Amino acid sequence: MAEYDVDLFVIGGGSGGVRAARIAAGYGARVVVAEEYRMGGTCVIRGCVPKKLFVIGSHVHQEIEDAAGFGWSIGDVSFDWATLVANKDKEIARLEGAYTTNVEKSGARIVKTRAVLEDAHTIRLGTGETVTAKYILIATGGAPNHGPAIPGIEHVISSNEAFHLKELPKRIVIQGGGYIALEFAGIFAGYGSDVTVVYRGENILRGFDEDVRKHVRAEMEKRGITIITGCTVTKVDKHGRDFTSHLSGGSSIASDQVMFAIGRHPNVANLGLETAGVAINPANGGIQVDGWSKTSADNIYAIGDVTHRTNLTPVAIREGHAFADTVFGKRPVQVDHATIPTAVFSQPEVGTVGMTEQEARAQFSHVDIYKADFRPIKATMSGRDTRVLMKLVVDGLSDRVLGCHIVGDCAAEITQAVAIAVKMKATKADFDATVALHPTASEELVTMRTPTARHVRQAAE
Ligand code: FAD
Ligand code: NDP
Repeated sequence: MAEYDVDLFVIGGGSGGVRAARIAAGYGARVVVAEEYRMGGTCVIRGCVPKKLFVIGSHVHQEIEDAAGFGWSIGDVSFDWATLVANKDKEIARLEGAYTTNVEKSGARIVKTRAVLEDAHTIRLGTGETVTAKYILIATGGAPNHGPAIPGIEHVISSNEAFHLKELPKRIVIQGGGYIALEFAGIFAGYGSDVTVVYRGENILRGFDEDVRKHVRAEMEKRGITIITGCTVTKVDKHGRDFTSHLSGGSSIASDQVMFAIGRHPNVANLGLETAGVAINPANGGIQVDGWSKTSADNIYAIGDVTHRTNLTPVAIREGHAFADTVFGKRPVQVDHATIPTAVFSQPEVGTVGMTEQEARAQFSHVDIYKADFRPIKATMSGRDTRVLMKLVVDGLSDRVLGCHIVGDCAAEITQAVAIAVKMKATKADFDATVALHPTASEELVTMRTPTARHVRQAAE
């Protein structure tokens, strides 16, 4: 008789857990996946996918405005939020079904319930049953931060609720200056809401290249989004269907919805981690893991957002795949977390890979900056007041391209391709040797010949 009921028990049927389960089952492991909500996890159900669908739809408004300069006259247009939400829900249900089928086809079994650890080899299901497993993978993801506990916090929605609003808010206040706040600011503004972003710091997108931060803010403001920096929402009052957000500076804003997008926390609460000997990383509150995604318990691994390393879907998927290859495929693989491309699907979009100018200047003695800030060809006819930013950060000594930062249409798509070159340690000379593809915005990346700035650190600095 087998020592354990299964070889692998995966807690969480999201991006990382599903990949790990399918790959491990493919190696012949007996696998069970527990999911307490919906198969597919955050990305599929209330993250990347529905967000991108909302973003795509919200661009139509701008396309219609831009069309006049190209000779189109478009009569009355109308938009129906309920149709958008219903069609999005249909697509998400289809994807949830596909995730379920794919896991089952791989030979893994799904249990639709919450699962917690009882000890290092035992999992207790919501049904009360227990299952023993040789290996356990914690892939429970994360959830929106709701705090701080200001008066009226109960009136505030997070991205979870934003996907299911009954009506498009005419006015919305969004607190936060990161990915989700800016993406939803663009979404709501695109569909016609009056949007105010409230951010506590000096400028939005902390951690991104300074030029990107300035450029995105200016472009969002041109599109009618109000961005208030240097303050927080201290209180939210509700009067009937209206809300008043009181700001730390003393002013207040009236709206129909108030949303906070102020970060996410790893789902580690009440999982039984202590009883199983799984330690938390005191630096970030996620599950502590080594380079193999192994926790402090020898047979328990953790991947994805619950480890709070790089909270992106492709990273969770890679970590899940690497875990299965290592533990069940006899192919030890560690995930390389360096030079991960990322995009903010704000409007305009941001695509970035590698070092910011500020990071490069802190690490390298000679840094060359190549920057183009220009009016895209479409704007010459549409008349839209908008500019694109393309920026390369180059090591002045080795000529290696350390970072690429783009703000403008298709920034994410361009960045995915440029990321291959940056990951391969391409030099500026390699970029220059590449013939431009004309007429595109991204041809700037291979035609910028003269540095716009050169930073040389003196030996004493
Ligand atoms: P998840 O996908 O969160 O899956 C965890 C699963 O575990 C969930 O289904 C949960 O219900 C389940 N679970 C939790 N606890 C238990 C338990 N005890 N028992 C059973 N089941 C449990 N990333 C990108 O790369 N690109 C994007 O454009 C992007 N957009 C995003 C937009 C939004 C609004 C949000 C919120 C996130 C976005 N992300 C994006 C981040 C991305 O969604 C996550 O990084 C990714 O989903 C992490 O995958 P995961 O497998 O670690 O966790
Ligand atoms: P982010 O970390 O991107 O942004 C959080 C924002 O909230 C920051 O501006 C932060 O300010 C602010 N903030 C944090 N705490 C408070 C507070 N107590 N009061 C007021 N403001 C506060 O988190 P998000 O919630 O936007 O997204 C979570 C993660 O999900 C992202 O980091 C990313 O990993 C992932 N994601 C990825 C997407 C993509 O790939 N396109 C899209 C959406 C999410 P400060 O900067 O000053 O700390």
